[in-house]
Formats: sequence, C-alpha cells, structure tokens
Amino acid sequence: MTGRPSADAGSIAGALRWAAGLLGDDDPRLEAAVLLAHCLGRPRSHLMAWPDRPVEQAARRRFETLVARRRRGEPIAYLTGRREFWSLDLAVTTATLIPRPETETLVERALARLPAAVPLRVADLGTGSGAVALALARERPEATIVATDISAGALAVAARNRRELALDNVSLAQTDWCRGLRGFQLVVTNPPYVAVADPHLRRGDLRFEPAGALAAGAEGLDDIRRIIADLPACMEAGWLLTEHGHTQGPVVRRLMEAAGLRDVATHPDLGGRERVTEGWWPGTGGLIPPGNG
Ligand code: GLN
Repeated sequence: MTGRPSADAGSIAGALRWAAGLLGDDDPRLEAAVLLAHCLGRPRSHLMAWPDRPVEQAARRRFETLVARRRRGEPIAYLTGRREFWSLDLAVTTATLIPRPETETLVERALARLPAAVPLRVADLGTGSGAVALALARERPEATIVATDISAGALAVAARNRRELALDNVSLAQTDWCRGLRGFQLVVTNPPYVAVADPHLRRGDLRFEPAGALAAGAEGLDDIRRIIADLPACMEAGWLLTEHGHTQGPVVRRLMEAAGLRDVATHPDLGGRERVTEGWWPGTGGLIPPGNG
C-alpha cells in the first residue's frame, strides 16, 4: 500500500475517510472505525464524538499498519485481538478459530438441554478461544464445565479469557477429543468440519485461521465421526450437541442414530441453514432426560 495519509488524515474524521477509501467493499467505514478505535484505545463512540481531534503520530502509524494488513486480507478479529461472542468480549489469536455468530445456535441449544440450578458436568470439546464453554458458564453458574483442546496455544487463549471473565466454573484440559474424559452429562462441540479440498479454506478469513480447527478429512467428517464413536466412554446419560456444515445434517443424524443416540434432531442457524445436531445418549446415571424439546 502507498501508506501516505491524505492532508486531512491528521484528524480522527480524516483518518477514517482515508482508511475507508482503501478498505475493500465489505463495510469499509465500520472496519476503519473498529481499527482506529483499537489503535486509540477508545470505544468507537469516541470517534463519533470527537471527529476533529488530532490522531497522534504513534497511533496513526499503528493504524496505517493495521489498514495495510487488513488490505492483505487479515481478519479484523486478529488485528484487534478481540471478538464478541454471546456478549462476551473475548481475546482471540491466530491459535484459535474466530468465534462465529452461527455458533451461538450451539450455545442456545445446549442451554435448552441444560436445566438451571442443577450441578451438571459439561464438556466443551475443541474449545479454541473458550467461547462456547464460557458462554455456558456465564448462563449456568452451577454447572462444572471442562473445556478441552489438543492445541496448547488455543488453551492459553481460553485460559486468558476465563481469567478476564472470572468464570471459575470452567477448567481446561489438553486432550484429543474424548480421550481420558469420564462422567459427563452434556457434551458440546464445534469441531473442524470443512472438507480439506473445500475452496473456502483459501478465501477470506479462513486463510488465516488454524487449519487444524477447520479441516477434517475428505468430507469434513473425520472429527465428528471420532467424537461420536468415542462418546460412550466419556458420558453418562445425557446430550451430545455438535455444530456442523450446513449440508452435513443428514449424515450427522445418521451417524448419531447408528451409534445408538436417541431423539436426534437438527436445528438451523440464524441464516436458516442446518447447523447443530443433538442426540440423547442412553448411558447409565445422568440427570438430564431425553425428549424432543
Ligand atoms: N463455520 C466455519 C466456517 O466454515 C467452520 C468452523 C468449523 O469448522 N468448526 O466458516
């Protein structure tokens, strides 16, 4: 990029205009505002309140660097290091997937299966930034939640988020899916589910996200298959809920039913696409009933 700000870029409004002119066609004004607010260490409302204030040189240099990186396609969440999910302000790094709005459907369905005021044991497999585990912990303080990931880098981010949000009912474990886990009554997961040859992996934000958190074999089903196969050892009676690709509903339902889960059903995300499938595992013990709800 030719990084020379135009003459009026000395002010907040000028810096925003300059950047908006350079930043693609997604929502350039919003992106410019998010990045400038980040560089100034202020909320976005500050930019609207003080358009004529000068941007001091160090902040302007940081801003120019981030605008240049954004022009190369880096996701906004990695540039600011933050992403909001379920109204939680989360740290994210390139060690974790960026939490997606459609994953809030997974949280909603898990909450629908998690009675309040019951001390249930919940596992969030492949927690990444901790988004799902921390959202559940916020809504169900009585539950004990174990958030797992195979990636130490991801667990470090989840640990930071747990600390910042002071959600002490979450503990972290470095595991390979269900290995070593026992006695859970609800298992929730947003595993990798993109096919390795899917061209989406080479577009947009996905290019910058950890491949290990996105891709799962030729059909994108390798990890979901493993989780379903290993589930009996780690669960008492209770619910498994998994996010999946929008065309994978039928096969995930078949896999769950073939493994002996009951009341298997798929729920749409906000865009109306099949996104979350749940099933009840008829193990021993457990505190959550089956049923279609
Ligand atoms: N929802 C992500 C995407 O396709 C994939 C996330 C995942 O594999 N768990 O953009």
